[in-house]
Amino acid sequence: MSSPSLLQGNSLAARDVRSMIHPYTNLSTHLTEGPLIIQRGKGVHVYDEEGREYIEGLAGLWCASFGFGEEELIKAATEQMRKLPFYHSFASKSTEPSILLAEKLLEVAPMPFSKVFFANSGSEANDTVIKLVWYYNNSRGQPAKKKIISRQKAYHGVTVAAASLTGLPPLHNDFDLPIKNILHTSCPHYYRYGKDGETEEEFAARCAAELEQLILAEGPETVAAFIAEPIMGAGGVIIPPATYFGKMQAVLKKYDVLMVADEVICGFGRTGEMWGSEALGIRPDIVTCAKALSSAYLPISAVMITEEIFQGMVKQSEKHGALAHGFTYSGHPVPAAVGLRTLQLMEERDLLAHVRKVSVRFNERFQALGDHPLVGEVRSMGLIGAVELVADKKTKRPFDASRKAAPKASAAMQEAGVISRAVAGDNLALCPPLIITEAEIDTMFDRFTQGLDVVAAAAKAENWD
Ligand code: PLP
Repeated sequence: MSSPSLLQGNSLAARDVRSMIHPYTNLSTHLTEGPLIIQRGKGVHVYDEEGREYIEGLAGLWCASFGFGEEELIKAATEQMRKLPFYHSFASKSTEPSILLAEKLLEVAPMPFSKVFFANSGSEANDTVIKLVWYYNNSRGQPAKKKIISRQKAYHGVTVAAASLTGLPPLHNDFDLPIKNILHTSCPHYYRYGKDGETEEEFAARCAAELEQLILAEGPETVAAFIAEPIMGAGGVIIPPATYFGKMQAVLKKYDVLMVADEVICGFGRTGEMWGSEALGIRPDIVTCAKALSSAYLPISAVMITEEIFQGMVKQSEKHGALAHGFTYSGHPVPAAVGLRTLQLMEERDLLAHVRKVSVRFNERFQALGDHPLVGEVRSMGLIGAVELVADKKTKRPFDASRKAAPKASAAMQEAGVISRAVAGDNLALCPPLIITEAEIDTMFDRFTQGLDVVAAAAKAENWD
């Protein structure tokens, strides 16, 4: 953050405070603390306006998979910009990059999907899914089958419908959300919600039983779809028990409820598999993806659907005419060209093999943090993970929220030269660019641990309890 003197006069920080509204920022403290202004990036590093170097431990927002200086992606964007800087896909218009990217996505998809719809963000993709599911169920003569089940602590975005899917109270409080027809079932976090004496497997079975009870209570004829991130990201990097999705999907199948996998974070190698669905045993009917689809260099997201759902939409066109949904930038040729090059680079450089190799070190370093006095639980897979801070390791008692343990640790980590993120409660997440090396992983964890140590010392000195 900027020093108070920087907030005077005509500095960039001062001009930021005078002009911008920042997402997911305390707008009140921002007025006095100002921004951290990132000026440039290279590899896994970013540099602030004073030239200080940071390891971007969250790949920005769980997204910049190729780091911050991949020339191939810059080239793909500039070449496409020169050739055709914009064209749309409304009214049967198309462009080569969007066609090639759709084909490539269908080729690498976790299921035999039939068609791809492009949007610009994860929120828009998830919003689109809700509309398409409703449209599809109307087409097949099931107009009452409209409810979507999400989960507590899920994160699916911020638009009116996507924020409703999100299961985190700050996204609903005073925004008058969630909207109707969106329900939330239990969060599959064994450490927090498993009962005394319950095995992980029993806990997973209880989650599935709770899902079934909810469907039965609402009436199966009213429940259309279930949406889930394979690993919950913003909810705290929550990795469900191994048998969880198998059990949940058996229930969904029984009641003809579609399975939607939100692959916005997990897609494109994050778990060491191409898709989180593959790593976590999900067989989705619909997939949404974004972020690492273009290594975040330009905004693009996608929804992939089955032939059966597509045929329902075709039937609607026979009834209504044009599909009355789409964004000006759906299939924009420049982000599509960058997305295509991203997927090609993943193959050319065998990025999945790299992730599998370096994630061994990443997971070892995470597991070692289990011994830290502040850490209650460590959760990690592939190149994503988090530690959960607790006041008492034995009882799992959290710190009082007013202590702001994780935000303070995150600030101390930033001071030590690693950008991490405090998420949902006292969790600190790491999700670095997938190109990270073992040596960089070591430096990242050394700095991360330094930040934890600062907070452990403060907790001791100030007798937090
Ligand atoms: N879904 C998941 C799993 C996410 O993590 C996010 C964003 O972090 C979104 C959806 C929303 O994406 P966007 O911020 O691009 O709208």
